[in-house]
Amino acid sequence: MPNLKPEARSLYQHILSFIVASPRGAKLRPKLLLKNIMPAERLRKCLDELESRNLIYRDKNSDEIVAVYPFSLLPTSHEVTLYRNGKNAWTGEDKPVGLRVKSRRGRGPTRARQKTFYAMCAIDSMGISFALDADVLICSRCPFCNARIKIEITNRAVSFAEPPRCCVWYQIVEGECISAVNKCPWINFFCSTEHLVAWRSREGVKLGHRMSLAQALDRAEEVFGPRSMVGRALRALRRRTEPVIFRT
Ligand SMILES: [Zn+2]
Repeated sequence: MPNLKPEARSLYQHILSFIVASPRGAKLRPKLLLKNIMPAERLRKCLDELESRNLIYRDKNSDEIVAVYPFSLLPTSHEVTLYRNGKNAWTGEDKPVGLRVKSRRGRGPTRARQKTFYAMCAIDSMGISFALDADVLICSRCPFCNARIKIEITNRAVSFAEPPRCCVWYQIVEGECISAVNKCPWINFFCSTEHLVAWRSREGVKLGHRMSLAQALDRAEEVFGPRSMVGRALRALRRRTEPVIFRT
């Protein structure tokens, strides 16, 4: 990661490793995790640096970390479940086929036991597939009609989408912006181009463009794929054998 100070880089990898390893996904409390890691002033400087690079975002009231892109640490409308070798990465259950499958007892998916992450936006939800090098099932909702949208990514390609004509709105912000505040809330899946157009006129959204799922996936790879800052940080983590150590 060029231009990140070594301590900030280590801290970033530490935060990422905790998120990736946590079976509770979105429910972790990063501030508690970081409490005793280094003196408060140095910790603040490192977090400031990570935030200035748009790698994390802290809530301005609570000062709690709420986003480590592509992951949201608070629930969002983009839920991402990981699969490896056709099995749920957390429960070991077989990957559902066609995404309509209920749990064996017919009581619906066992969501509480799934390793589910929340993503900051539609592009980020696809980005989790690249960041963690896993197949994913994304469950989201159309902001216009609230219909469920399900997208499956297998071997870095969209392998299933429901509704089949769903697409993405990509928000553009002129000048400097904070992704978590100014962009992510607007970057969503829509069940059809018609609903995207209707939503734009209802909300008065102007700057941005429609993306097909394939285009959105390309964008996700650009931002979170192997050559991205997130991708390189995670790859370095996989190579590392000892835990991250901070000098105090
Ligand atoms: Zn819709």
